Amino acid sequence: MARETAQTAGGSVTETSVVEGVDKELFIGGKWVAATGGRTFPVTDPATGQVLCEVADASPADGMAALDAAAAVQASWAATAPRERSEILRRAYELLNARTEELALLMTLEMGKPLPEARGEIAYAAEFFRWFSEEAVRIDGGYQVAPNGQGRFLVTRQPVGVTLLITPWNFPMAMGGRKIGPAIAAGCTMVIKPAEQTPLSMLALAAILAEAGLPAGVLNVVTTTDPGGVMEPLIRDGRARKLSFTGSTAVGRRLLEQCADKVLRTSMELGGNAPFLVFDDADLDAAVEGAMLAKMRNIGEACTAANRFYVQRGVAGEFARRLTERMAALPMGRGTEPGVVVGPLIDAGAVAKVSALVQDAANRGAKVLTGGSTVDGPGHFYRATVLTDVPRDARMATEEIFGPVAPITVFDTEDEAVEAANDTEFGLVSYVFTNDLKRALRVSERLESGMVGLNQGIVSNPAAPFGGVKQSGLGREGGSVGIDEFLEIKYIAVAL
Ligand code: NAP
Repeated sequence: MARETAQTAGGSVTETSVVEGVDKELFIGGKWVAATGGRTFPVTDPATGQVLCEVADASPADGMAALDAAAAVQASWAATAPRERSEILRRAYELLNARTEELALLMTLEMGKPLPEARGEIAYAAEFFRWFSEEAVRIDGGYQVAPNGQGRFLVTRQPVGVTLLITPWNFPMAMGGRKIGPAIAAGCTMVIKPAEQTPLSMLALAAILAEAGLPAGVLNVVTTTDPGGVMEPLIRDGRARKLSFTGSTAVGRRLLEQCADKVLRTSMELGGNAPFLVFDDADLDAAVEGAMLAKMRNIGEACTAANRFYVQRGVAGEFARRLTERMAALPMGRGTEPGVVVGPLIDAGAVAKVSALVQDAANRGAKVLTGGSTVDGPGHFYRATVLTDVPRDARMATEEIFGPVAPITVFDTEDEAVEAANDTEFGLVSYVFTNDLKRALRVSERLESGMVGLNQGIVSNPAAPFGGVKQSGLGREGGSVGIDEFLEIKYIAVAL
């Protein structure tokens, strides 16, 4: 493995040490086990294209062994005291924070995001464990007098049962934490399949949860190059009662079809196509700041990334000028280098897709104000880009860009902006910048999205309900409703 050893600011955590420190086998029934036939697959650094390590490549039989392990302990795990589950979550929160440096470096190596962002993701993921450690002991119920006064209704909430969790590569730790936290709090056991491109963060998290005291079999991790072959039999098996998926709408649709077979509960956190509206009366400094956050968090590879900027004519020129100045100045490079903001995209396919979308917009008359090109290898880099005069029929108006590209379209009226914003099958998040309170509330209510960033470019918060409408998904993660996704309501009719 030809890989240099870089030191982080802390001095003691090295690239070699963090990669070598991760167990790379499957985590089943509390044990690290090799995949059938000892099969493995490589994990690469998207900034260099070099192989970091090999990880176990689960077969369908390995997946079934993980489900067996989860099913075997579901009843005993459901019967644990909520306080016990809460304390495990709390310890996981503390361990994640204590290991931030090594976990952040590991994530940067496998995913590419700059180290400060990786540290931020560890903190964000840890907060889900703290939040759900607090929620685990607040699973309430009800006692009600029947309307006729004769009987009584008892309402209690119980764990859904065995759950299947599937996560994407763009937030390798947080997307898992958002599911594992509430599943543990509720008393559900799990089989989790992280993305093939970023399995190391999840394997590290499994070890931390075991260290925090999570009993064997409650969390099982299968890494694989055959996601459909491994997960579909588990979905159709009948013992799992829920699937929680974060990923693309295309894959989500297929999984919903599979879940119909045994009528599984589902949570679907799918793709986005966020509109970012700037009105003439907005605080332009705040709008540009918000745009940088909403666009450039995670190198633009976020479901919440601003995908379409609609700017009112009076401020459009100035907004484009300031955004271009900021985007053009962003340092690009390997995420481990100090000061880097624009890391690599996840793979060559991602660069090709972003290039094709920019080319398509340019062919339809858009002007490139900055960027608009790839960077010679190694690694998968695309320059931070701003486009203006992007027509509504450009492909990037309807498809997720998932890269550092900000397309600007000018509008004149509020109705026109809202109509353009809602003209998409997606409905995850929208951003609105205006200093007019009435307009802020009016537009927020009219936007067809599960979340709205009002005068701010970031909405994610473990204490808030995250999720989309339309084809961006079903259900919510985080907030006081997050645990509901892993609980069933039982009503007991009592005769007096
Ligand atoms: P993806 O291709 O849908 O993959 C997501 C996960 O599904 C990966 O673990 C993948 O495994 C797995 N998968 C793929 N095909 C499968 C199949 N047939 N059966 C079972 N599992 C399968 O999405 P991605 O490219 O990794 O992630 C980007 C997408 O996620 C974007 O659309 C983004 O908007 C969305 N996302 C949404 C949210 C949200 O909260 N709404 C958050 C983050 C990301 P492999 O890695 O092996 O392919």
